[in-house]
Amino acid sequence: SLPPMIGRSFVEAENAEHIASPDTIRIMQWNILAQSLAEKSDKFVCPEEALHWNHRRWRILEEVLTYGADIICLQEVDHYNFLKATLGKVGFQGCFFPKPDSPCCYNKGNNGPDGCAIFFDASKYTLLRIEQKVLEVFRCQSNQVVVMCTFQRKLDNRKFCVVTTHLKARVGALLPTLRNEQGKDLLQFVKNNNSQNLPVIYAGDFNAEPSEPVYRTMIQLGEVSSSYAMVNPDEREPEYTTWKVREDGEVCHTIDYIFYSRNNFTPERVLSMPSGEQLGEGRAPSLAYPSDHFSLCCDLRLL
Ligand code: NDP
Ligand code: CA
Repeated sequence: SLPPMIGRSFVEAENAEHIASPDTIRIMQWNILAQSLAEKSDKFVCPEEALHWNHRRWRILEEVLTYGADIICLQEVDHYNFLKATLGKVGFQGCFFPKPDSPCCYNKGNNGPDGCAIFFDASKYTLLRIEQKVLEVFRCQSNQVVVMCTFQRKLDNRKFCVVTTHLKARVGALLPTLRNEQGKDLLQFVKNNNSQNLPVIYAGDFNAEPSEPVYRTMIQLGEVSSSYAMVNPDEREPEYTTWKVREDGEVCHTIDYIFYSRNNFTPERVLSMPSGEQLGEGRAPSLAYPSDHFSLCCDLRLL
């Protein structure tokens, strides 16, 4: 007897032209919370039942399917086969790239490494190419990865790229620099693999607040804009994209983004974050929401 899933609504940009026009690509970004980390590493203060895979998997599917996204970028995927099988039944195809030394694998009873995945609605898009890379920091491999898919839209044969990543987590003096180096390597990788200069969407858990160097690197070096900020009249990011209570305290901040190459798209609407009231004292994960990160979802009009 699970409570109903938390209800969320879309917020329109002021200049949004149409509702659900076929020109728009609906993209979802979500760190789904690896099952192995949820059970063994994260130390969330929440009902133990909320962490059972038997509940969480249906809640994850529910969230992924509820908002009708065309393309879904996921991090902390340690049950790719489950998602591939279930989403496959409703017309999605996908790809997965694990982290080289996933912390999931150090936990008893793990289901393999976690990594990044991209799923897409195969009735609307053709997957032309997949590129994957272990991100480098000062020319040394790190434990973080990037996945880049090139798609062709069946509607009008237009092509674009979708890139996802999950940058290094944690707080510490050198970590913002490390994430910034990963961001620079990611942009170089995309540039090397996008000789046609196709429009690009970058969706990921950057593990960095907007004040961190990697955010500015994306905006300036990557020549992108951030969907959620651009739909907001004051051009600010949401107050949080993750909100959790761990044994050592509450964490509530913005570290997940959907960026787009700024000359190629207009963001038309974004899915609002659940309110503190909706989440309740225990925040997330909970029986009503399966991850400590909330999904981001955005309609991007291809110009
Ligand atoms: P990261 O620092 O990037 O973090 C990995 C995961 O931990 C992320 O998914 C992150 O989630 C989550 N996380 C962040 N903060 C916390 C927290 N306070 N408590 C619990 N989980 C948190 O790690 P790396 O990928 O760089 O890998 C860590 C390395 O540690 C591996 O290379 C592995 O060798 C080693 N390791 C060793 C273990 C052992 O038993 N010997 C156990 C685990 C790891 P989010 O992005 O949502 O913040
Ligand atoms: Ca996590």
